Amino acid sequence: MKILVINSGSSSIKFQLLDMNDESILATGLVERIGEPQGVLKCVFTPGADDEKEVEEKRIVTDHRAGMHMIVECLGSDSDVISDYTDIAAVGHRVVHGGEDFQQPTIITDEMMEVVKKNIPLAPLHNPANIDGIRVAQELFPTASQVAVFDTAFHQTIPAYAYHYALPYNLYEQQHIRRYGFHGTSHKFVASECARLIGKPLNKINLITIHLGNGCSMAAIKNGESVDTTLGMTPLEGLVMGTRSGDVDPAIHAFLVRNCNMSIGDIDNLLNKESGLKGLCGLNDMRDIHAAIEAGDKRAELALEVQTYRNRKYIGAFMAVLGRVDGIVFTAGIGENDPIVRQKSLEGLGCFGIELDPVVNNQRVKEPVRLSAEKSKVQIWGIPTNEELAIAREVKSVLE
Ligand code: ADP
Repeated sequence: MKILVINSGSSSIKFQLLDMNDESILATGLVERIGEPQGVLKCVFTPGADDEKEVEEKRIVTDHRAGMHMIVECLGSDSDVISDYTDIAAVGHRVVHGGEDFQQPTIITDEMMEVVKKNIPLAPLHNPANIDGIRVAQELFPTASQVAVFDTAFHQTIPAYAYHYALPYNLYEQQHIRRYGFHGTSHKFVASECARLIGKPLNKINLITIHLGNGCSMAAIKNGESVDTTLGMTPLEGLVMGTRSGDVDPAIHAFLVRNCNMSIGDIDNLLNKESGLKGLCGLNDMRDIHAAIEAGDKRAELALEVQTYRNRKYIGAFMAVLGRVDGIVFTAGIGENDPIVRQKSLEGLGCFGIELDPVVNNQRVKEPVRLSAEKSKVQIWGIPTNEELAIAREVKSVLE
């Protein structure tokens, strides 16, 4: 069964074609700079195999429709990968915000698309791009099943006392203001991998999963279900991210309006694009931050301290949420590749039975690795996330 996974962002479309009989990747790539003067498609066919082949094509990509056409043309250019488009059994679409309406991956119908549209105010930048991607895929692959996999779905098990903000209740009832959480596909994927590796059934395991990439979030998972997470109504709350602030005092908004002559739009931009690691030291890539620290940059050092302190603080909070914790999992760009961030995020937690093995920790994680010391009561794992595979698995399970 061949499944095409599509992840449409505001100016890019990532794609991956998988053969779900053996979960192998037939092609993976992206179209980026959609709507800019020069767009580009990059694709790797059968990555890692002897006959791996890379394709790059630059041209103007006016919109998502044009981008999807480029992807289809590119996939069709290798007859070993797909002989004809009816070869693709299903297209899985990452959809950022499912609101309270979707707890599971869902087969796309006209009715459910109306519900996705209704949720646009909750994710004004992302959901419209996702909807475009779905519409074009329906035209280009009329025989394939189309399935939506929501970033928010895994967190729909969070109890009311954890997802409510202490705001007037009518804002929840009328505007649906509450914590939803994101990165759900990734948290769910590494949680089930970790349960398998620890050797416990997923529905009996308690985990803290820590996704540290450009966006960062943590999930408290009890008996295999999400019971709390750090991202909120939007992907801005919680941990310190590349350019996003994470938690701030909400009164800072009013202060900026009154004292710095800023509009709501300016503040939105400030908190999402100019804050986080970048706001603190001018750099948002953790590799650059380490290089700057080596060169004696004190602000870069501060940025690392602020991020890892916030991680530690939330680990403590989620230990309190869960009581018993079987494992802590690090994943995504920083979580998989950065021993220093992992070590600093867990510093001083020995009293909770959390002890890294400093030698094993000192590596980039390319496949699941147990990073905890023998005596650690809580197992610590580095597990690469694979959102495309996770989406393809979800799609397969819906179709079956
Ligand atoms: P996204 O959230 O965009 O999917 P990723 O999970 O790919 O992001 O993470 C990207 C981030 O991972 C980069 O911005 C960088 O900070 C970090 N990163 C990637 N490689 C390394 C590395 N070798 N060491 C430290 N950080 C890394």
